[in-house]
Parts: sequence; structure tokens; C-alpha cells
Amino acid sequence: MTTLLLGQTLAFAADPFATPPADAARHDARGAVAVDAGWITDTGTADDLRARHPQAQVIDHGDALILPGFVDAHVHYPQTAIIASWGKRLIDWLNTYTFPEEARFGDPDHAREIAERYLDLVLANGTTSVSSYCTIHPESVDAIFDAADARGMAVWAGKTCMDRNAPDDLRDTAQSAHDDSAALLAKWHGKGRASYVITPRFAPTSTPEQLSALGALWAEHPDCLMQTHLSEQTDEIAWVGDLFPDARDYLDVYEAHGLLGDRAVYGHSIHLEPRERDRLVEVDAALVHCPTSNTFIGSGLFDMGLSGLMRVGLATDTGGGSSFSMLRTMAAAYEVAQLRGTALHPAQLLWLATEGSARALHAGDIGRLGPGNMADLVVLDLASTPAIAQRNARAGDIWEAVFPTIVMGDDRAVVETYVAGRPMKTGRP
Ligand SMILES: [Zn+2]
Repeated sequence: MTTLLLGQTLAFAADPFATPPADAARHDARGAVAVDAGWITDTGTADDLRARHPQAQVIDHGDALILPGFVDAHVHYPQTAIIASWGKRLIDWLNTYTFPEEARFGDPDHAREIAERYLDLVLANGTTSVSSYCTIHPESVDAIFDAADARGMAVWAGKTCMDRNAPDDLRDTAQSAHDDSAALLAKWHGKGRASYVITPRFAPTSTPEQLSALGALWAEHPDCLMQTHLSEQTDEIAWVGDLFPDARDYLDVYEAHGLLGDRAVYGHSIHLEPRERDRLVEVDAALVHCPTSNTFIGSGLFDMGLSGLMRVGLATDTGGGSSFSMLRTMAAAYEVAQLRGTALHPAQLLWLATEGSARALHAGDIGRLGPGNMADLVVLDLASTPAIAQRNARAGDIWEAVFPTIVMGDDRAVVETYVAGRPMKTGRP
């Protein structure tokens, strides 16, 4: 049975970093999306789709804007309860806030409670897929995949591996990291909409032996993603230099242990050396920009110029990031780019939060408003508050109409979030 969702629609036909951004997407002021059995089967104008699908059930969202659901390419769901913690930079942040909270995730009840809370928060903010770090505990991986499965969500996640420079109760070993990850991969990867991601936290918390063990596991499962952190803060980079004196640079540590490839996804990647950039482009690896985290923890300003050269996704980095909202994250990306002398077009911001992140995760059936994609959708009210509405009233085109919601919007702008065609916000089954 086909359902037609009516509203404004924006569908990207091209990468707005490679073409004039305003021309990269088709806008229908009265558009429609046909959904059948969880998939988008047709898109176009409301008139055309009503004619092509005369028997369809119709849900009319009026002037609201229908977009692909947001894809958050780098999060730590176990940090949900410590978001917005004060006053630390990266290493102190981890020791003061992150590690004590992550130590609780060996308790499956706690892991389940936070996983469910986290996914409900992101759904309320219009996010339909995430790629999450878990904790060293296999229970934390089971919890997020179970919660995602119950909601029908496509989620990427992996056990975060650490065997040094972490508290006693948050260390595994090279062998147990390999074996636990292998068992979780076998249990979850490809089950429903779950994708397992091999996940060393970052170079300083893994011995060379652990990095090599995870590199070997990745070589056995090359269809999996591998996610980790790269060049977030300058003192972190200096620490990596001390820990791995033979490495040419930070990226070289990963490459030397089999952790560089076209399905590698590196969070942050702010302070890259020219050699690192060239190598990342050469292997077609992905970077993930986490702007609210980078300003909140004081890490630095990501170079959005890289988006024209390689896969770049956008992410909240919950809870180092200061928001669960990809709207707020797009606004922060705009602000960070402005500080580097570039004004990102609204088309570029929306693309990063949808198709850009989907490309970073090599996801072929999300992030796009077109047939053949899952009906993971967000419906945005472009006049959700008085402040936004009065600015929206002056808009001359769709980009001026949507930009105030990107800059000032929050979960009040999210009218509905659909996962595989199921309404998850107002009409939750
Ligand atoms: Zn992170």
C-alpha cells in the first residue's frame, strides 16, 4: 500500500561542493514522496504523484519541508548523560567525565536505558541514522543495536577498544579487543539494518599490538567500516608523536597497523599535515566534521575545503559535542567555516547532514530523497518559532526560507521523523 507524503521537497541531484550549490537540488514547493513497504518509490510534484498513485493514502504536511532524515556520522551514545559538562579540553574531558560514565556500561540495564534514551532524543531531532562508538563492554554494543532494531533504524556501531592510558576498568587487551570485536561483528553485522564498525578509540589508548590486531580483523572483513579519531587537538598530536616515535605523523600510526583504507572514517581531522591530506585523498578515506565539539572542547577549525577533495560527513560527536541536533550542528559548521573565511551555502549544509554523511558511511540507501532509498525522512516546519517565522516571511527562495531554521532551529522545528516510513515522533506506533 502506497502512502503519499505531501509538502515542500528538496532532492539533491548533484554534490553542492562540486556544482553551483543553489543548482544542486530540485525544489518542489508542492512536492510529494511516495512510500511503500518502507522504501521511497517515487518523488515529484504533488499533482504528478497523485495522478500516478490515485489509490494512495495521503499525509499532507502542508508547507513543511520533507528531507532525507539526518545522518550523524560520529557519536558516542554512552556520553548522552554527560553532554554539556563544563571546563575541560580533550584529555581532561575523557578522564574527568567520559571514562567514569563509560565504566558503567558493563551493566546491561544501564546500557539499555541510555541507548534507548539516546535514540529517542535523536529521533526527536530528526536524525534517523548514527555511527556510534560504544564502550569496551560488549553489552554496550548489544544495547544500541537492540534499541535501533526496535525502532527500525539503520545504525553503525562498534565496541570501543582501549588497552592503555585508560582506567583499569576500561581496558581490554589486544587479544580480547580482537575477539570481542570479531564476535560482535559476527553477531550484528548485516543483521537487519545493523552495521558493525571496527572501533579503536584513538592511537593514544591502544598499544601497537591492539592496533595491529584490529587492523588484522578489518583485513578479514573489508566490507566493514573502521572508525577512529584523528588529529583533534594539538597536544593530543604531540602525545601520539611521543607514543609512536617511528611514525611519520598521526595518520601514519594507523596506516602502519592496517587501519587506513577506503572504508576508514576519521573523526575530527582538524590539524592535518599536507602528507596526511594527500594520503587520505589517495585512499578515498572519509573525514567527519564535528563542529559543536570542536568549538566546545576548543579543538580548532576544520577545513571545509576538504569536502571538495574527499568524503566528508557531519556529526554531533555527542557528548563532546554540545547538541543532539543536526540543525545546531549545521549552524556550527557554518560558523566554523566563516571563521576560516568561507560561507557555506544552505545546500551544502543540508547535503553534509544527509547525503554527505551517508557517503562517508558508504551507505547506499539512506540520505537521499529518491526512489531506491529507505523512507527515512525528516519533516521540518520552517516557521517553528516567532523569531524564525518572522525571518522566514521575508524569504525570497527556498534557501532563504530554510536557512533561519538551520541557524536558529531545534527539535521544535521537527514536525515528524519517519524511519522506514513509520512516523516516530507524533504517531509513534
Ligand atoms: Zn568522538
